[in-house]
Amino acid sequence: MTDKAKRDVSYLSKTLFIKGLQCHKALYLHKYHPELKDEISPAKEALFSSGSNVGVFAQQLFPGGVEIPYEGLSLSDQIKQTQAEIKKGTATIYEAAFGYKGTFCKVDILHKGKKGWEIYEVKSGTRMKDVYYDDVAFQYYVLRSTGLPVSRASLVYINNQYVKDGDIEADSLFTIQNLTKMAKKQAAVVPRELQKLRKMLKGDIPDIDIGEYCSNPYDCDFAGHCWSHIPENSIFDLRDKGVDKFDLYRQGIIHMKDISKGMLNFKQGIQVEGTLKRKIVSSKRIYGIFLNRSGSLSIFLILKPLCYPFRSLMGQDHISKSHSNIPCIIWEKRGRN
Ligand code: SF4
Repeated sequence: MTDKAKRDVSYLSKTLFIKGLQCHKALYLHKYHPELKDEISPAKEALFSSGSNVGVFAQQLFPGGVEIPYEGLSLSDQIKQTQAEIKKGTATIYEAAFGYKGTFCKVDILHKGKKGWEIYEVKSGTRMKDVYYDDVAFQYYVLRSTGLPVSRASLVYINNQYVKDGDIEADSLFTIQNLTKMAKKQAAVVPRELQKLRKMLKGDIPDIDIGEYCSNPYDCDFAGHCWSHIPENSIFDLRDKGVDKFDLYRQGIIHMKDISKGMLNFKQGIQVEGTLKRKIVSSKRIYGIFLNRSGSLSIFLILKPLCYPFRSLMGQDHISKSHSNIPCIIWEKRGRN
């Protein structure tokens, strides 16, 4: 029996479902080749931890609830504890766990309202994103499938208009958006998507090349593996909007040196030139004519660097991303006394 056959591929948590919707290959690699995952960067770790802090703070929207811990409990024990709390009549459960036919999800806040159970999914962002629809719909699907009467599904995110005045008030800090209608509609599609993902997992590794989806809606944690053939100074290092990088990539144009100049906007042209020639690329401007103390006339010709190659303390070559703070008086012409 192969490693692949031995593994249970049918289990799909909410996170894995979302991962699979973003890219089938990412889900496949997660299941069969987790060793190819990128290391978690400190920045990502910080993001996770700030996300979970926001989640804990949002519990104050419905204080006095019971938490189902993740640590130290198997998934089935978490599900059992959640069911026990529901039976007991607990009105608010944090991190409530549910499973249905190989699916699993945790609900940030589950609250018993007048008309039924309410799902609150907490995000640390300040605006609604399309991917959250799938997130909430998946929870709605799993909970309804277990027979729980769900009357409402909402997204909770940070209100960017909030101004702190004294203690932080959860009611004012968060925006609650009712997504029940959409969750109902989208939940109907979830079983079909689950079926597709499970079928894909039974086959060979999907033949998927890199694309926009590698960082949208989330940065994929297999980027180091899939992007290993992209060299330094590639088209993907081009700053600014302009030329469609993936369009170039699909045409076989990968390195900056292979792009014809006419395809680039002004800034990108400057960047490519600077990168390839490793030189300061400048736009000439005369910024001032000054009279010296001695009475001589000085014209300062300022070469404003747009792209500035430098070597960092770590010994790596870089091209500056910003030119605004670089001192740039290069040349001075003195007039006669
Ligand atoms: S890096 Fe891109 S192609 Fe590779 S698994 Fe992730 S999303 Fe898919």
